[in-house]
Amino acid sequence: MEKFDVIVIGSGLGGLVSANILSKEGLKVCVLEMDKRIGGTLQSFAKEGVMFNTGLNYTESLGKGEILNRYFSYLGIMDKMNIQRLDMDGFDKISFGDDNIEYPFAQGHENFIRCLTQFFPDEEANLRTYIHKMGEVCNRFPFYNLDSDTVSMQALGHQLNVSDFLKSCTANTKLQKVLAGMNSLYAGIEGETPMYVHSLINYSFIKSAWRFVNGSSQLALQLARGIEANGGSIRTHMKVVALEGEKNVIQRVRLENGEVFEAKKIISNIHPSSTLRLLSENMVRKSYSNRIFALENSVGMFTLYIVLKKNSLDQFNFNYHHFPNSNVWGTKYTEENWPEHFLMYSPANTKSGKYANGLIVLTYMRFDELKDWQNSNRSNRPQEYYDFKQRKSEKLLIVLENRFPGITKNIKSYYSSTPLSYRDYTGTPEGSAYGIIKNADNPLLSLVAPKSKVSNLLFTGQNLNMHGILGVTISSVLACQELIGRDYLINKIRKY
Ligand SMILES: Cc1cc2nc3c(=O)[nH]c(=O)nc-3n(C[C@H](O)[C@H](O)[C@H](O)COP(=O)(O)OP(=O)(O)OC[C@H]3O[C@@H](n4cnc5c(N)ncnc54)[C@H](O)[C@@H]3O)c2cc1C
Repeated sequence: MEKFDVIVIGSGLGGLVSANILSKEGLKVCVLEMDKRIGGTLQSFAKEGVMFNTGLNYTESLGKGEILNRYFSYLGIMDKMNIQRLDMDGFDKISFGDDNIEYPFAQGHENFIRCLTQFFPDEEANLRTYIHKMGEVCNRFPFYNLDSDTVSMQALGHQLNVSDFLKSCTANTKLQKVLAGMNSLYAGIEGETPMYVHSLINYSFIKSAWRFVNGSSQLALQLARGIEANGGSIRTHMKVVALEGEKNVIQRVRLENGEVFEAKKIISNIHPSSTLRLLSENMVRKSYSNRIFALENSVGMFTLYIVLKKNSLDQFNFNYHHFPNSNVWGTKYTEENWPEHFLMYSPANTKSGKYANGLIVLTYMRFDELKDWQNSNRSNRPQEYYDFKQRKSEKLLIVLENRFPGITKNIKSYYSSTPLSYRDYTGTPEGSAYGIIKNADNPLLSLVAPKSKVSNLLFTGQNLNMHGILGVTISSVLACQELIGRDYLINKIRKY
């Protein structure tokens, strides 16, 4: 039986960053991944020669000295990334209904205020307050400000929800909507999502916004190279089906293929409720597992991957967020008014040059729409499922054409995915895009600590701290500090 210091279950970003940190520290680490490829939602794939990302459109704060740059530099991957900065005066453009105005999200806090003030001339002071309040929140948050010693979970104490927060910044309802325009990055729910979720994301993206050239899977690849160079191993086609143990300690990790591994510590990169379901009976109290099982997950995504006709559409270096019904809080859509929002971008690649060769269009989709097919898997979906996807694709394309007349004539072919696709390829319950929902009324309730109630089991990944590239990287630091010490680790990262 093979023995390790640490077994990491899952090779999503959370698993790979954790394995990278711990193997750097000389621990014997093994990552077990159920899929044939590593990366989880970092995976990219090619269709008809066009590279598409499955779950990473753009990322934040990669400028020199900025927070994600410092983490990536510490991990030894920053200078190996092929990245491109999105447009300075509008990395995101927000539009509503039939109105042709595109409200820009510009990079740099002062630039952001300047660009939006052109559309809202009386709102400069309010925009300044908005940025200032978000900065205050971020600076109090553990690991979002490496140089602060005042980091504390007090930041999660009293919380406004994001819609009330925006109302507290400005009485201008149009500006409130514009400021909420990036909320598909956190599946924002009106009156519910805490303002800290909005702030951690918006503040960091407004600092600087970037996309990966030739696919987000390069991030997984570089992290994996680091792990292997440090002596760690990554094994694919290795689905963990049981964590066997007694008296609160995992003794064996059992795989679907019958193999059994041992490790002193286990880090789970998969959803906490999925992890608890792998444990032998009575290893944790029912009250603990019931609390975790009861946590609700965010909505999933329906995605169109569009292959464009050659030289038909100019490449663009920003993302569109469009709200056809002018409702910015679109997670609670009905069948009739779906989609209430879409995010469209063109994946960056070195092949396309002046012209875009593909488009990705994402919108929300709840798992309840897919209930009829929940017992199917990737190899045996019934025809009705494909018909459903086709109907949804056509409806989304009509909304796209309304916003950009003529755009659909550039389409050569298209493919689609649903939350069911995500459930089956990453194991995420209900194919949720961003994991456990956070609620402003009780922010601590939805918080999962890296230390589980099993003595040698830790959690990492998007369900801990925050989802997204920055949030998940931080979740790995949170898990690893439990093994190698917080001050020791943070002081190492602070050098970058
Ligand atoms: C459509 C979409 C768009 C997104 N866009 C952005 C964006 O633009 N910017 C951004 O920052 N974030 C974005 N995100 C969020 C971001 O991609 C995720 O928060 C992050 O990648 C999640 O990483 P993770 O490590 O927590 O989990 P995952 O990526 O889900 O990885 C979990 C891994 O565990 C494996 N696994 C599961 N069960 C087992 C098992 N039993 N045994 C072994 N292995 C197992 C899975 O196969 C998978 O590889 C997006 C997400 C989605 C879905």
